[in-house]
Order: sequence, then structure tokens, then C-alpha cells
Amino acid sequence: MVKTQLLVVGGGPAGLAAADTAASLGIQVLLVDEGRSLGGQLVKQTHKFFGSGEHHAGVRGIDIPQLLLKEGQDKITFKLNTTVIGCYQDRVLTALTGEDEYFKISPQAAIFATGASEKFLAFPGNDLPGVYGAGAVQTLMNQYGVLPGNRVLMVGAGNIGIIVSYQLLQAGVQVAAVVEAAPQIGGYLVHASKLARAGVPILTRHTILAARGKEAVESAVIARLDDNWQVVPGSQQELEVDVVCLAVGLSPVVDLLRQAGCRTRYVPELGGDVPVRDSLLRTSQEWIYVAGDVAGVEEASAAMVEGRLAGAAAAKQLGADVAAADEIIARSQASLKALRGGPVGEKIRSGIAKLEGGIANA
Ligand SMILES: Cc1cc2nc3c(=O)[nH]c(=O)nc-3n(C[C@H](O)[C@H](O)[C@H](O)COP(=O)(O)OP(=O)(O)OC[C@H]3O[C@@H](n4cnc5c(N)ncnc54)[C@H](O)[C@@H]3O)c2cc1C
Repeated sequence: MVKTQLLVVGGGPAGLAAADTAASLGIQVLLVDEGRSLGGQLVKQTHKFFGSGEHHAGVRGIDIPQLLLKEGQDKITFKLNTTVIGCYQDRVLTALTGEDEYFKISPQAAIFATGASEKFLAFPGNDLPGVYGAGAVQTLMNQYGVLPGNRVLMVGAGNIGIIVSYQLLQAGVQVAAVVEAAPQIGGYLVHASKLARAGVPILTRHTILAARGKEAVESAVIARLDDNWQVVPGSQQELEVDVVCLAVGLSPVVDLLRQAGCRTRYVPELGGDVPVRDSLLRTSQEWIYVAGDVAGVEEASAAMVEGRLAGAAAAKQLGADVAAADEIIARSQASLKALRGGPVGEKIRSGIAKLEGGIANA
């Protein structure tokens, strides 16, 4: 049994910030991640991040993880290639390193920063080789240097669909079109404009109807949608592609939290089922905190600040200096308020409002 004061599950921006903050407040931290390197989604992001300088805007995602480990780094034990596979209400977690090294962890508190998983779409042929999620395409291309194919249909014009389309072009892959069911492009227009300049059509109010092929994807059928989201008869067209890439949203990874008895609630604005938590990101299990996309799908900037907030709150619970922890908590809460201000933050604000008073009322 491995004992630690604080266990952090997930080494993306939220988990790294949480671990660094708690460790800098004198807490002994064990951070585990199933990946082979730290950074979560960041290790695939070759583009310069948007947002504010305080949150590393203008820095390429792949360069951000090392900036997140500051004062606390020496007090953190990192265990990579390690998946937490069980979490029980008696504060015991089970984990697997590599293929066969099982062990138990007994922390006094835990922060879950497990991120989000990709949503999928139902259509004929969606099980053909060549149909990928955008995360898989990024992993193949940007981590392993392997092209997914030669000509891609991208489904979804949010930030992920647009950015991955551009990265495909940079890697020499053709993008036949980006289809988006909504009437407008969801991603930042600065990225969409780059695609438009490269001649890639972004077809709003369009969807995929089917992927076709014998052994693998050879083509995809798309069609226009009317104001009621119904296919416009006669608008079908078949595009010759060998890859269909789905970028249709993310869902928080809450399975382990549910197993531990944490209450969840369905909040579509935050990506689906999310853990109910208080303003310190503490769940209905008083020893478990959450941070980042697992608490609601947002952006790396919010994930980092939530990590600092949860790290300080957990450290305070574990006996760290109260004044120092409170100072970080207050700064992080103000920073989150600023990040979620204005029209861009409206969706997240309304989602979080649905969780207010959550622990008591869930
Ligand atoms: C294409 C793309 C472009 C983006 N561009 C931007 C941008 O420009 N600006 C911005 O602010 N944000 C951007 N984002 C969003 C940003 O990457 C995410 O919001 C952020 O990474 C979320 O951080 P996280 O730490 O919550 O989760 P993640 O980064 O997903 O990290 C979760 C970690 O948990 C680990 N994990 C999960 N389950 C387990 C388990 N059971 N055991 C052990 N480890 C586990 C995973 O291996 C992973 O390392 C982009 C995302 C994508 C996909």
C-alpha cells in the first residue's frame, strides 16, 4: 500500500498546477498519469495558445507543462504509465503500472484532474477503419509523427475541429471540407480564417450521413440541414476521403468519481455529467477535489487556475499554512471570475450556476 498525503490523478494542466501548488505549501504529493509524458492534452498542441499572458497565451501548448512546475516540483513524486482503475469510499485507490504491476494507494485527500473524453456520432460506417476522434488524429500526428491518411473530412467546426484541420494541412494532408451542423462556426475566427485562406470549405448547417468503403473509409456522404436540423432532400454529396475525423465535443471523465460515491449532475453547458462540488472544488466526498475538464469542459487556462484552487484547498484541509493557502484560493477564484466574464463565458457561467448549492441539494 502506497501512502501519501495528497494523490493527484492526471498530469494535464489542472493536475500539474494542483500538485505544484499543494507541494509548494509543504504537502507530500503523489501524481499519477496513464500517459508516458506529463501535460495531458497539451503535449499534442503544437499551436500557440489563445487567452491572456497570465495563462501562457502565445506559448505553444507543448511548451506549457514545464512552466507549470515551479516551487513544488521537488516535493512531488511522479508515477507515469500508471492508470488509476478503482476508487473506493474507504479512501483506497487501485492502480496499474504498465501491464501487470497492480498496487493500492491510500491518500489522505485526492484531486481528480482526469480531463474529458471525446463524444462520438452514430452513422452507418462509423466503425470502418479511418474514422477517428480528433484527439486520436492529434496523438498519431503530433506525438508519434504518423499521418492518419491522405484526405480528411472534418466533422465539427469548434476550436478543436478547426485547429486539428489546420494541423492536418501543416502536415501535408488534404482537408476536403469541414462540416458543422450549427448555423455558425463555433471556433475562434482567427483559426477559421486560416483554413478559409487555404481554400478549405467550412460548410455550416451540414452533417455527415455515412462513411463508405469495403475494408476502410473510401468516401463520406454529407448533406445540408434545414432550420429544423432535418436533411434537405437532394442535398447529399459524396466526398472522396480516406479519413473521417470527429470533433463533436467532449464529456468529463467522471467514472472513478462515481465509483467513489461522488454525486454528479447532468449539466449540458459543462459537457454532460459533472461532479457536484463547492466553491473550493470539493466534491460530496469530503476528501475528493476536482479540477479542469473533469469538472466541466473549458480551456487549459481555466484548468490551470482550477488546479491551483483545488491544490490550495486540499493543502489547507491537510494542515498547510492557512493564510498562505487562503491567499492562493482568493487569487484563483478572482482569476476564474475574470476568465469566465463577458459574453464568451456566458455558457460556463450558466452551467456553474446550475451547481450552486449543489452539495446540499444534489
Ligand atoms: C485541439 C485542441 C486545441 C486546444 N487549444 C487550446 C487553446 O489554445 N487554449 C486553451 O486554453 N485550451 C485549449 N485546449 C483545451 C485544453 O487542452 C484542455 O482544456 C486542457 O488540456 C484540460 O486540462 P485537464 O488537465 O483538465 O485535462 P487533460 O489535459 O485532458 O489531462 C488529463 C490527464 O489525466 C490523465 N488521466 C485520465 N484518467 C486517468 C486515470 N484513470 N489514471 C491516470 N491518469 C489519468 C490523462 O492521461 C491526461 O494526462 C485545446 C484542446 C484541444 C483538444
